[in-house]
Amino acid sequence: MSTTIDFRSDTVTKPTPEMLEAMLAAEVGDDVFGEDPTIKKLEQELADMLGMEAGLFCPSGTMTNQIAIRLHTQPQDEVICDKRSHIYLYEGGGIAANSLVTPCLLNGDRGRITAAHLLENIKPDDIHAPVSRLVSLENTMNKGGGCCYDFSEIEAIQKVCREHNLALHLDGARLFNALVKTGDEPKSYGNVFDTISICLSKGLGAPVGSALLMSNALKPKALRIRKVFGGGMRQAGYLAAAGLYAIRNHVHRLSEDHEKAEHLEQTLKGLSWVESVMPVETNIVIFTPEKTMDQKVVMDALKNVGILAVPFGPRDIRLVTHLDISDDHMDLAEKGLRQLEF
Ligand SMILES: *Cc1c(COP(=O)(O)O)cnc(C)c1O
Repeated sequence: MSTTIDFRSDTVTKPTPEMLEAMLAAEVGDDVFGEDPTIKKLEQELADMLGMEAGLFCPSGTMTNQIAIRLHTQPQDEVICDKRSHIYLYEGGGIAANSLVTPCLLNGDRGRITAAHLLENIKPDDIHAPVSRLVSLENTMNKGGGCCYDFSEIEAIQKVCREHNLALHLDGARLFNALVKTGDEPKSYGNVFDTISICLSKGLGAPVGSALLMSNALKPKALRIRKVFGGGMRQAGYLAAAGLYAIRNHVHRLSEDHEKAEHLEQTLKGLSWVESVMPVETNIVIFTPEKTMDQKVVMDALKNVGILAVPFGPRDIRLVTHLDISDDHMDLAEKGLRQLEF
């Protein structure tokens, strides 16, 4: 009888019946030959939405980020990013393994760096130093509790990049969560970034897929890199159809996920055994149990009341809301959290 409420990630969603229908109806072809009309449509529609010229459909967000790094750098270069960045922490050391590049790690505010930070860390033209070549931002910032950048700060960062001949990449795995939250104009993102990675398999609810958005000039090189990374897919229009359905139908509803996350934040704040909760802005809730508590004990207790979460660092625990969390799930989760005692 017990219901499990899966807050581990917004990647656990299953396609809706309508999405499955769209997938079944997809027109497909061999995309390595450039012949899949549904993939082309998805790439163009996403690029248009965000004010970019071209898109490249890939199996994962790790691949789109890693293609971007390879695209903008050469060996001995460095990519400047926050120390909590997904590209650094959660992509298996790919910065070094795939591109022979080193990361320069900044300590931003919950993962958000500033133009001033960036300026202090650009290397001088000196043979001892790596060559600063690329800046990578993440919005929303996963490890920062799903927080969003102020667009004015992004513009200031872009100005520094332009003045120092640095490329600017966005890990926008959850960019649509940020856009729904801030109300920023999506096309303004295309104006400031050289490349943008978007995940269709997170809050948007598609089963698979990410896209890298860029200029027409960058696309041929990106295609070559995708090929060497093993990311050229054949009749993947069935998957792109899910992505197309998602960007047409699942963007506006992200605000519902944000409301649910805020609700979890309020509940957690009222619990005696919770030391703190990171301010919630979108669909990610990160909380810290009291110092004396063993993380595994807390995880097990959550599981006993049906709540699945993930450990997020030595003490923190992360909950993520998504398309498959219903109002009933939320009632059960609140009841479960309130009845826990340690
Ligand atoms: C999920 C995620 C990615 C991409 O992950 P994949 O599992 O490879 O699709 C990239 N950046 C961030 C911030 C993410 O949360």
